[in-house]
Amino acid sequence: MSKLHIQELLRSEFHASLLGFAEMQGYLPKEFAELPYGISIGVQLSRPIIDSLQSAPNKLYAYHYHAINHYLNDLAIQTVNYLQKREHQALSIPASLTINWKTHEGHLSHKMVATRAGLGWIGKNALLVTNEFGPRLRLVTVLTDAPLRGKRPITASQCGDCQACVKACPVGAIHGKAWTPKTDREALVDVHKCAEFIDQYKAELGAPVCGLCVQACPKGRREPKNRLWGETSQELV
Ligand code: SF4
Ligand code: SF4
Repeated sequence: MSKLHIQELLRSEFHASLLGFAEMQGYLPKEFAELPYGISIGVQLSRPIIDSLQSAPNKLYAYHYHAINHYLNDLAIQTVNYLQKREHQALSIPASLTINWKTHEGHLSHKMVATRAGLGWIGKNALLVTNEFGPRLRLVTVLTDAPLRGKRPITASQCGDCQACVKACPVGAIHGKAWTPKTDREALVDVHKCAEFIDQYKAELGAPVCGLCVQACPKGRREPKNRLWGETSQELV
């Protein structure tokens, strides 16, 4: 194969739900500076499982959360292997890997990469919100030196006057502010209040999940049309 069709690979063979490419120069920690192109991969969450979240997280969602994270990590590793076989450097940033438990942050924000890839904006609930799936998806990121140029980043919230997630949060952790790329996560959500609520269920469910502000979001509630998600084509000679 002389040309690399990452989108076709991920979408058709691996069934990624959403995919975008992001130029990440200036947005990465130093250790990743040699890999300045990001691939943001999203997999849709099950609608019935999200709809089952009415007042508390449940075991079905906890299992689904783990399963989707494994699936995303698998997609990312397959993508890394694909790039490496074609003599590019690449690494995956795992889904939901927290490295700082004080700030509840990982190596890199998957959501930030996704906004730079033009996939969606950050909602008032501090989650990526997409037109196709709302916040009902999970993300993983691949960084590479392969020059995969993407669409224009999304830089404005499209939440408008909606307050559905603010009202749905059982501990009042969502402040109700609209996001811009300069907005810190703490300005949107009290992560400590959120984590305290989630911690109440962690032992019973075996996963740090809540999902009530995902379920409440009106975006992505309807089934998207059957079309090509994200970019239309990305070729690398
Ligand atoms: S995950 Fe739950 S506790 Fe955290 S902000 Fe959303 S609704 Fe509130
Ligand atoms: S529920 Fe409304 S305010 Fe919250 S993220 Fe979704 S669209 Fe934005």
